[in-house]
Amino acid sequence: MQYSEIMVRYGELSTKGKNRKNFIDRLAYNVRQALHEFTQLKITAHRDRMHIQLNGEDSNLVMERLNQVFGIQNYSPSIKVERDIEAVKAKAVEMMKEKYHAGMTFKVNTRRSDHQFEYDTNAMNDLLGGAILSSFDDIHVKMKNPDVTLRCEVRPDGIFLSFGKIPGAGGLPVGTAGKAMLMLSGGIDSPVAGYLAMKRGVDIEMVHFFSPPYTSEQALNKAKELTAKLAPYVGKIKFIQVPFTEIQETIKHDVPEGYLMTIQRRFMLRLTEAIAKKRHGLAIFNGEALGQVASQTLESMAAINDVTTMPVLRPVVSMDKNEIIEIAQKIDTFDLSIQPFEDCCTIFAPPSPKTKPRIDKARQYEERLDVDGLIQRALDGIEITEIKVSDEFMNQDEEDFAELL
Ligand code: ATP
Ligand code: MG
Repeated sequence: MQYSEIMVRYGELSTKGKNRKNFIDRLAYNVRQALHEFTQLKITAHRDRMHIQLNGEDSNLVMERLNQVFGIQNYSPSIKVERDIEAVKAKAVEMMKEKYHAGMTFKVNTRRSDHQFEYDTNAMNDLLGGAILSSFDDIHVKMKNPDVTLRCEVRPDGIFLSFGKIPGAGGLPVGTAGKAMLMLSGGIDSPVAGYLAMKRGVDIEMVHFFSPPYTSEQALNKAKELTAKLAPYVGKIKFIQVPFTEIQETIKHDVPEGYLMTIQRRFMLRLTEAIAKKRHGLAIFNGEALGQVASQTLESMAAINDVTTMPVLRPVVSMDKNEIIEIAQKIDTFDLSIQPFEDCCTIFAPPSPKTKPRIDKARQYEERLDVDGLIQRALDGIEITEIKVSDEFMNQDEEDFAELL
């Protein structure tokens, strides 16, 4: 069917009182970003709905992108008809032809935002319902749970017909909850944590630690590709790569084996906090889940978390692995995540890390290290890439760290 526009209904933002305008503005901005390739669209955001005029663009492709924009409750592709009752009847019958089967039930549901129009909602329901009843055999009106609901909206600029509502991504528009850093490995959990953070409106930047030559270029690219999978939810995401080799070599050399992992994680967290502060991030997200591996006991989280007072948020903390995998499959990160490129943690992972590390011990072992110098040198080596929707991330210009910081 050749639709003329997509009518978008907002999600939870309807309850947000005076922040409503910010939410709508942000949603409109995000929708424009997500749809920037479709140059013929005209997007207008009103208080209660957003209208996306298609002007000939392919509605299926547009809807595919729209499905990845948080803050949309549902939407309806609709057909615009001139404000002439005969024309509306004819189009209604034509649309019903696509849905018709013998014995089916339907209703017409009219809504008017233009009260000047000569027919009120009841009259419109009757007129359109009558036209449909007289055009098909064995079709019946049913008010409760009909097979098909034909929606009719009378507006000053035309009359819009649509079938049903298609559920959107839900959540809150990305950006309305502020900015945070996501610690992104190449694994299954952290991309899912990033998706869930974005779903609640958080604008995330990726922080990824890599350790050349121990980790390969492919491992780094994998993390970038995972970022590209999440980019459609927001348009573009900053990917911040942090060299971690010197820190890992030093720790391996100077710290007892049982604490290698704890101390490495403490460094990652310190670095992520430093980056967040410079880039006005308010919190740190990661993909830790309770009890999955040695570093994910409460004792271990406490020993790692000891280095920062910034909120460390763990969206997947209480999920089972198969629940996380289900989301990873839905957002299409799973197949990438399971590609076997070693990341920096696997390579320096001790055979038997302490499952109950002690905070005092961790602090004590770090006294042997030049913590500030190691942190500073890692920060000096950072590179930032901007990864956009549908862009080949490898062609992105790498911006100078100093410029962005
Ligand atoms: P994931 O599937 O996200 O890799 P995991 O179950 O493998 O998680 P860990 O390896 O213990 O768990 O990592 C816990 C979290 O620490 C990760 O979810 C991620 O947020 C962070 N992390 C681990 N390695 C890195 C890395 N190389 N760069 C950035 N963050 C990392
Ligand atoms: Mg991992």
